[in-house]
Amino acid sequence: MSDSQSNPPMDIVVIGAGIAGVASALYLQRDNHRVTILDPRGVGEAASFGNAGTIAPTSCVPTARPDILKRVPKMLMDPTGPLKIRWSYLPRLTPWFIDLIRNSSADKILTNAQAKTALLNRAFEAYNELISESDTEELIVRNGILQIFETDQAFQNMLRERELQEACGHKVEILPGEAVRQMEPAFTSTFKHAVYLENHATIRNPGELTKRFASLFESKGGAFRQEAVTGLNRDGARWRVTTDNGVHVADRVVVATGAWSREIAKMLGFRMLLDTERGYHVMVPQPDPELRRPILLGDHSVFLVPMAEGMRVTSGVEFGGLNLPPDYRRIRAMVPFAKKILPQLEEREMSAWMGFRPSTPDTRPVLGEPAGAKGVFFATGGSHVGMTLGPIMGKITADLVAGRETGLDLEIYKPDRW
Ligand SMILES: Cc1cc2nc3c(=O)[nH]c(=O)nc-3n(C[C@H](O)[C@H](O)[C@H](O)COP(=O)(O)OP(=O)(O)OC[C@H]3O[C@@H](n4cnc5c(N)ncnc54)[C@H](O)[C@@H]3O)c2cc1C
Repeated sequence: MSDSQSNPPMDIVVIGAGIAGVASALYLQRDNHRVTILDPRGVGEAASFGNAGTIAPTSCVPTARPDILKRVPKMLMDPTGPLKIRWSYLPRLTPWFIDLIRNSSADKILTNAQAKTALLNRAFEAYNELISESDTEELIVRNGILQIFETDQAFQNMLRERELQEACGHKVEILPGEAVRQMEPAFTSTFKHAVYLENHATIRNPGELTKRFASLFESKGGAFRQEAVTGLNRDGARWRVTTDNGVHVADRVVVATGAWSREIAKMLGFRMLLDTERGYHVMVPQPDPELRRPILLGDHSVFLVPMAEGMRVTSGVEFGGLNLPPDYRRIRAMVPFAKKILPQLEEREMSAWMGFRPSTPDTRPVLGEPAGAKGVFFATGGSHVGMTLGPIMGKITADLVAGRETGLDLEIYKPDRW
């Protein structure tokens, strides 16, 4: 794997200690580079902590689709619907949203789905390498996911997605209601429709997995510093990375700052149309019996995920940027939907969380070097599947730093494509 003979070891700074940054650091270390990760928050404490933990290679369907856009007004009027806009944030969101609409034509939908698929298809390749090296298989459950539907309408909406998933080569299995009861003994009733996606896995504690990957990185000599990057400037052929605690000089820089990546792009002098789709979770105690796999309640866009510390209930998208305070009312309103299908569920909230998905309007990740900043590599924009894509984005980033062939059309992921 190492290219150290053709590529001498370099000093590399990775900005951001989420899954994308930590995975990049691990793969760069395989090439014998001296790697330092910088993050003021600590390892895996932002989006990579609180997500739904699914490794979801079939999730290739872009958000920008006419059927979704048509449903936006209805979604916004429903206080338990899957979409919320904090209206004071609308002026900032407008350019992002216009670009999303531009990306909703049939040809763009397919191109964007294929761009995601090229990375999603390799998600397990990288995860399996890192899980095996860090000895973390006990945090993974390889049991697929189920989507269940009470109404024909919600099921019809899903069938549109299924067409695209199948066009991207995925198997989407429609199941009879009785089969669902056998797969999930926790259910007390059957459902009108159910869908099984086999090629998914669940991380029982995504924050812990990210930390375990980081421990492996540190055990192999990597450095982690709790510092916030405030400036990025050329220093001859190298880069000066200024933080709230000093300066690091690096041959290469990897930017894996998730939803904050637009700020780093601004420091480098280019515009990146990346915003955050905020998301929430609440933790409640596991039902008895426990769910065996994540369940999507298709009628309400609610995800129920069995995790190490309890059952995680996640839902929907809120547009409100990085600074507005959280509003937990909507996620709390989702718990009764879970109770409806799991009557034995104890509705006791153990914790509540909000986090920031790093999202582009074309739903394509952001990978590679911007034209004006040679030596700086972005690994971000994973949006709803950023936990799935973190490791493979890290692997590809190490390939790009080494100048290895990636087999990808890198133009479509360019950080300065706007
Ligand atoms: C409710 C919810 C459910 C989700 N479910 C799933 C799922 O089931 N499957 C899936 O694949 N994805 C899921 N996601 C998406 C996924 O969590 C994210 O896309 C992914 O975690 C992003 O990882 P990251 O490493 O890019 O960013 P992050 O984990 O957000 O890490 C970025 C890091 O950069 C640091 N940083 C920012 N600015 C600076 C700076 N100036 N200097 C230094 N450091 C900086 C931050 O402190 C942060 O720690 C979900 C997201 C949410 C919100």
